[in-house]
Amino acid sequence: MNKILCILAGIILLPAFSSQQASCEQTSSRYVTLQYTGKEELRTFADNIELPASLSQQMRKNTVTTEEEVLAKTDIIVEKAETVLDMFPANLHFTLILLPSAKDISKVFFQKYSKNVDYLSFYSLSEKTIYISVKDANLHVLAHEIGHAIVDHFFNVRPPYNIHELMAQFTEKHITD
Ligand SMILES: [Zn+2]
Repeated sequence: MNKILCILAGIILLPAFSSQQASCEQTSSRYVTLQYTGKEELRTFADNIELPASLSQQMRKNTVTTEEEVLAKTDIIVEKAETVLDMFPANLHFTLILLPSAKDISKVFFQKYSKNVDYLSFYSLSEKTIYISVKDANLHVLAHEIGHAIVDHFFNVRPPYNIHELMAQFTEKHITD
């Protein structure tokens, strides 16, 4: 597991935001680079992402830390979502950024797109990044955004927005099948 302080990524990739990210943590698995600011936030997120019995059987026994638990759960949801969509893009990898509440999601969305929304989460196509409200996170919300990430990585030519959304909704609906 590769773990570095986000400040490093901040300096290299996002100079404008590096000061905001000074205290955040970053860790990666096969499919996801996870960014979060506090252990408590991470614990709440881990508890909110409840896997159905069929998927929780795939959890490795040796997930000791909360980080490992979140990464393992996310990887399991990714593989289930790929099966639901029947899309297995090569080199699938995205960033997952945990934000405390929907208010923070709105704030980030406004900064990026100058548009007021009341989303619980969103997927940024240009950044290949899922932003999700920890308070509102659950299996279906996360599966929806992972659906967007898979569709984004699968097609060379981006499908129309409505089709993208439809496939994310399909993933969300069938993630527990
Ligand atoms: Zn969507």
